[in-house]
Amino acid sequence: MRTPSLLLAALLIASQALANDPVTKPIKPASAKEEASSPQKEEAKPAKEAPATRESRSAETSRKKEAQAADELAVKIAERLAVLRKEKDETSKPAVRPYVRPYSAPVKKSANLDEKAKKHGSVSDKHWGYEGDEGPLAWGKLNPANTKCDIGDRQSPIDIRDGIRVELDTINFDYKPTQFQVIDNGHTIQVNLNGGNYLNVSGKNFELLQFHFHRPSEERINGKGFEMVAHLVHKDREGKLAVVAILLELGDPHAVVQSVWNNLPLEKSEAVKALKNIDLSQLLPKQHGYFTYMGSLTTPPCSEGVLWLVLKEPVSISAEQAAIFARLYPNNARPLQKSSGRIIKESL
Ligand SMILES: [Zn+2]
Repeated sequence: MRTPSLLLAALLIASQALANDPVTKPIKPASAKEEASSPQKEEAKPAKEAPATRESRSAETSRKKEAQAADELAVKIAERLAVLRKEKDETSKPAVRPYVRPYSAPVKKSANLDEKAKKHGSVSDKHWGYEGDEGPLAWGKLNPANTKCDIGDRQSPIDIRDGIRVELDTINFDYKPTQFQVIDNGHTIQVNLNGGNYLNVSGKNFELLQFHFHRPSEERINGKGFEMVAHLVHKDREGKLAVVAILLELGDPHAVVQSVWNNLPLEKSEAVKALKNIDLSQLLPKQHGYFTYMGSLTTPPCSEGVLWLVLKEPVSISAEQAAIFARLYPNNARPLQKSSGRIIKESL
């Protein structure tokens, strides 16, 4: 807007100067509109001496016309600018909305995730146990992640009976002396192992991660329970779990169990690193015949898809060894779950 007006003003001034006409008033509004026109006005001054009255008259007429045109132009430009500004304002509003919407949606989403994470954290902090309000019947309600505990149909433990007696693939244990840590995690005494212990069954390789104890045994064999059980938890490369159950009955003391008890931590949730190694091959019974079925973790979140390998032959622990565990966990066995028509296989 400024440039055409400046040019117009310059033209007007120039023509006024040429005419040497005292009638400068009509152009004043035009020049007054644009303050920047004054230097041009000064520049135009040297060309003052110019005769010809006819020329000055026609110049005056054209000057008036130009001034009028300039005013009209200025008004039109102002109007057009006002329209453009209004349009810009209006279009900019809807342009903001779609930006706000997807932006506010992820904010809400992440806020929900945060809430979930907090909830998850706080709920998982909620105690689960084996009695009363936090007992096995409440597990599924303590945390949304535990719904399998309530609605799963491949849950453990079960009463192992009516197994199909077949020639099962031998479990190949590859256990060796390993460093270990003992932890009282508030639910059991657990032994965490450094890597290097494996079992192979049906062509699948699983690595031993940890083992822990339950009293009494969670699983039953044809309705018969045992003093305790050791669960040896293995994982394959795909993250699938295989748990070997070693049933413990009262009898002679067991050296491997004793080495764990020797390293019982004084405080809960603090792992104690044992100074000696542990050799899990020494915990295995002589015979490796087993029952197998598909089940779950027996503690929250009760995840299913766990391959259970329950060794048929129990190993013995002393009454004293059992009593030591009973002082800490007199009952940490989940009740039996429905077998729901699951196939149980038993080696010959
Ligand atoms: Zn267990």
